Amino acid sequence: MSITTELTNRLHGSAGFRTDYQITTKRIWYSYREIIDIFAEILAVIKDMNSAEIIIIGGGAAGLMAAAGAAATLGGGARVLVLEKMQRPGRKIMITGKGRCNFTNLKAWNEFSGHVHPKPNFLKPSFYNLSSEKMIDFLTEHGMESVVERGDRAFPASHLASDVVDALVRAAEGAGAEILCDKEVKQIATTPVGSRNDAKESEGFRVECGDGSAYECKKLIICTGGLSYPKTGSSGDGYEWAKELGHSVRPLFPSLTAIVPKGYKDFSGKGHIHRNEPLSEVGKMLCGNQLKNVELSIMIDGNQSQNEFGDLDFTDGGIEGPIGFKVSRKCVNALVNGSKVTAVLDLKPAVDIEDLTVRINTLWNEISKDKRNAQKLYKDRFRILLTKVLPMSLIQGFMKYHPNADHKTLPKHLKGWKFEIEGYVGYERCVVTAGGISLDEIAPKTLESKLVPGLYFAGEVLDLDADTGGYNLQTAFSTGYLAGVSASKQIATSLRSSQ
Ligand SMILES: Cc1cc2nc3c(=O)[nH]c(=O)nc-3n(C[C@H](O)[C@H](O)[C@H](O)COP(=O)(O)OP(=O)(O)OC[C@H]3O[C@@H](n4cnc5c(N)ncnc54)[C@H](O)[C@@H]3O)c2cc1C
Repeated sequence: MSITTELTNRLHGSAGFRTDYQITTKRIWYSYREIIDIFAEILAVIKDMNSAEIIIIGGGAAGLMAAAGAAATLGGGARVLVLEKMQRPGRKIMITGKGRCNFTNLKAWNEFSGHVHPKPNFLKPSFYNLSSEKMIDFLTEHGMESVVERGDRAFPASHLASDVVDALVRAAEGAGAEILCDKEVKQIATTPVGSRNDAKESEGFRVECGDGSAYECKKLIICTGGLSYPKTGSSGDGYEWAKELGHSVRPLFPSLTAIVPKGYKDFSGKGHIHRNEPLSEVGKMLCGNQLKNVELSIMIDGNQSQNEFGDLDFTDGGIEGPIGFKVSRKCVNALVNGSKVTAVLDLKPAVDIEDLTVRINTLWNEISKDKRNAQKLYKDRFRILLTKVLPMSLIQGFMKYHPNADHKTLPKHLKGWKFEIEGYVGYERCVVTAGGISLDEIAPKTLESKLVPGLYFAGEVLDLDADTGGYNLQTAFSTGYLAGVSASKQIATSLRSSQ
């Protein structure tokens, strides 16, 4: 057929034209279908990227262990995602134990539990599931050796907190969990079943981040920590979400923090006294003194409430160090509740007042009889006595508190140096947040919310805190791990039944 005939056929609607037209239409149709399919695939991939069986908010101690526990239990069969708002996970762990990270304590449960507040029994199932020994083994398995020091406290053998973070990240990622950083979760909501927006009937959760991304999951584990050292990422978001989902939050207050004696700072307020408030004259005199083997008693509204023996430091915050921290929980709680708090420091706890009096009288007689002191004034001889019973650096501050002390009253003052406690250093520098999500509303054997199925909490966000000595991190590890394992067991069951 000539070109002319071909063109004529097409223009006049000949069979040739129709055939070609049909082919073109078919092609367009196929291309259209293909584009739709590709779009559907892209949408599915995007949806997949933004959904996971389990989402863990917070990549700290509890969150990383939850991820490791969940991913290991699922064995790669489902997606486990950690959303962490900081550039890297485990920022707080990096500053623990002054950078050495006292990550656990090897005391047996009976003793361990005495260091956990306010309801240690809540921790028991988590602890038995992942005890301190198991934690040490777990870290060894993931490439970190440990050493155990005085007081059963365990540290990484390198004395580098970063080794703990690296081992936890290795454990989580090695088991298949993904850790997304720079992901600050702003909002969480339950995804309703059909039209019913009832948390108890939800199919899962929707999590929205500050960068505009959103994720969906079947199980949500909240591990956002407390309020202390907010620069490490813990700013208390978990408490707000828990309240929005119907949970109650027990009153929050700083613990393991400096308590501030009246007049220690150039600040007249009570309660929270910022660490940066300048020291007063007497504060400057006392700051820097580190006292060994002393005893600190706390009186709350006149009643003796706690008594601790050990080391105490006067710092730019106030009274802290091991026994200062130990009493801080009760002190802060009492101050927050409007009670009067007095701390009584015994500088000579190894001797009773009678023996100390005899000893000081003997010293005083020796000083008085010494010919070199014959011409000295009483105050100069008394100063010599002070140098024999107190560290030089403490004398000035001690005398500022006891301006009328003499050799007769000295034993009483040495054994009962009274400080009226006016305030405490707050979340800017406390070690842990006391209070948190009420334990009554969470199942201790799974860490699942009793109010919102599929929702779990672990770590410091719970109403659980502990003394110094590795107890806090172990609490976060144990609860995180159990939450991760429990959530993933439910997922595994539903995956099996849908197969
Ligand atoms: C100075 C210091 C020293 C300490 N030393 C010790 C010690 O030696 N031994 C010990 O046992 N304990 C120690 N602790 C306490 C211990 O670090 C904590 O109790 C523990 O880290 C709590 O773990 P967590 O996972 O619950 O919270 P965190 O470790 O605080 O982790 C919470 C994570 O959630 C992330 N997050 C918060 N909000 C969001 C959000 N909206 N979106 C996404 N991510 C979010 C945070 O960035 C953070 O990474 C110390 C604490 C401090 C402050």
